[in-house]
Amino acid sequence: MTDAVKPECAAVLGGISAYLDGELEATECDAIDAHCRTCADCAAVVQGLRATIGLCRGAVVAELPEPVKAKAQASIARLLQTG
Ligand SMILES: [Zn+2]
Repeated sequence: MTDAVKPECAAVLGGISAYLDGELEATECDAIDAHCRTCADCAAVVQGLRATIGLCRGAVVAELPEPVKAKAQASIARLLQTG
């Protein structure tokens, strides 16, 4: 991925990062879902994370093992890097 991240994608990725910190509201999950229906890039990211952490698919955020959380956050940080 060499293209700069689109602002709306950065917002979605930031929301996922918040989710990992247990700070994401259900309404924001809906926004992520809606965005992923129109954005293949974010859909791919979310799909990968869903398989790993069950993003937005459980009402209760399970306590994530630290290595899983760190890995997911690192990949999001990488995606958010532009240039
Ligand atoms: Zn996107």
